[in-house]
Amino acid sequence: MTHETLDPEIAADMRLRADTERHRDPKPAKYSWTPPAIVEHWPCRMCGVAMVGVTAEAIDARDHANQILTSRREPNIAKSQIVFCDRCTPIAKAQREERHRKVREATAAVIRELRSLVDNDLRERELVDRLRELGQPDIAHVIADARSHQRAAAAARAVARKRAL
Ligand SMILES: [Zn+2]
Repeated sequence: MTHETLDPEIAADMRLRADTERHRDPKPAKYSWTPPAIVEHWPCRMCGVAMVGVTAEAIDARDHANQILTSRREPNIAKSQIVFCDRCTPIAKAQREERHRKVREATAAVIRELRSLVDNDLRERELVDRLRELGQPDIAHVIADARSHQRAAAAARAVARKRAL
């Protein structure tokens, strides 16, 4: 059976449906994402020259942080202290990683010394102050750990002394 033998109206309808089928986009409708709107430009906090687009969300976050700082009577964060431009971002990231590495190494050295202390409260206080400066979050835990190492070392020394007798 061909279209010509059909009722012209039905044939037209079938052709229309076939055309629609052919022209229909085979892919599902794309998920359309639009980047958040840039509403302001702030200077890069490293080079101070490049201007970086910021969203309303970033502005709200800064306002919120500054409200907290103001309530603590601390200086607010300026627009020039927040964002990095594309060129400075990898430099800033490398610098941050280097700072973190130095803090980790310094912390490890202080903890090693704390663990090896023998009856030295003055030095222990100095080292604990140093840990505070380094931003160690759980100083009580570090002290407890160091004291248990100190006790174990003292016990080992006592055993060695007995053996030597
Ligand atoms: Zn920059």
